[in-house]
Amino acid sequence: MSNGIIAADPVRSAFREYYFKRAEMIEPPSDIEKREFGYMQFGGRGMARHLSFRTTGELIATLITQVPSDVYCSNALYRFPTLPMQEKQWLGADLIFDIDGKDLHLPCVSSHSYHCCASCGHVSAPSEDEYSVCNVCGSNKDERIVIPCGKCIEGSKREAMRLHEFLMTDLGIDKLNIHIYFSGNNGFHFHIQDDSYRPLDSQARSDLVGYLMGIGLLVESIGIRKSPGSDNSFVKFPKSGLQAGWRRRVADKLRIDTTSAMRLTNIVKEIGGYSAFKSELEKMTRELGVRIDPQVTTDIHRVFRMPGTLNSKSGLAKVKVRDIESFDGFSDACLLGDAKVKVKLKVPAKVRLRGENYNISKETAELPAYAATYFICKGLALAI
Ligand SMILES: [Zn+2]
Ligand SMILES: [Zn+2]
Repeated sequence: MSNGIIAADPVRSAFREYYFKRAEMIEPPSDIEKREFGYMQFGGRGMARHLSFRTTGELIATLITQVPSDVYCSNALYRFPTLPMQEKQWLGADLIFDIDGKDLHLPCVSSHSYHCCASCGHVSAPSEDEYSVCNVCGSNKDERIVIPCGKCIEGSKREAMRLHEFLMTDLGIDKLNIHIYFSGNNGFHFHIQDDSYRPLDSQARSDLVGYLMGIGLLVESIGIRKSPGSDNSFVKFPKSGLQAGWRRRVADKLRIDTTSAMRLTNIVKEIGGYSAFKSELEKMTRELGVRIDPQVTTDIHRVFRMPGTLNSKSGLAKVKVRDIESFDGFSDACLLGDAKVKVKLKVPAKVRLRGENYNISKETAELPAYAATYFICKGLALAI
């Protein structure tokens, strides 16, 4: 490895150093030999897929020599992981969930979104005004670059805690089998290590997602019955009560229990009858449910970012989260080295990493590798 290479691509060398020095961070999956791996290269197009490793050592050696920009591993187990998909022989897949900050549609996001013009590459700083066109070339196509703010982080943490609660109380999954990871950018990944979920097909996982997202709860299940031939209703509480799962959530929200038939009848009347209550309940359960990416969970052939590897959208690592509340991705997952790297900023930019504010308004700056990498990976700076 010559010094020339280091100077030419500080991000890649920071990644290489990480895989070399922090190999203990890599968390290989169980049954490693039955997994399909894939990775992306810096500057390369497309993903190398259908790879397989027999041991963790073999995997780490590849990370150090290839220095991928992103590393993925199948949640599925296959008899023949390197063969084409139809011939792999699917043996089951771990249950996974993805919470992505961008799916939360928080109102703060536009106030800290940079815009990168898709035709000329000009980057503009966040502003109060709605972004419409590039003020250099006039193109209206742009890519949004988001540096999550405190509220975004709190938002995805809240969502993660809600999912955690659902998995333990509603699905009865043992806390020890729920592995939570910071995605390395702006969200959380949940890996469930419970063999009983492995055989589930895509449809069963989709039903699970529907349940967690609060889709399709029947008004009847909380005791509302439609009166025949009208939009009126009457109350007949389920025999099993309102103590568990969605029934409990809705009952808590409406502040009812099985002795409050009168109160519930009045609530339905006030809202405007059976149909109006039905759509109100739909809205309520969507709000109380978890915002997860349904595709990630239902795709049983997916390769998913591997724990312990770096995310090229940020230079942060996908790391295990032991306590969601106290977790700070900008510190706990910021694991690159601190050798000085010179960068040219495309726009004034700021981020707080490892407890330190990097508020760069000058055009060039010399920053520790982890901060330089963050800005470069975000597309807000170039190495010089
Ligand atoms: Zn432009
Ligand atoms: Zn925000």
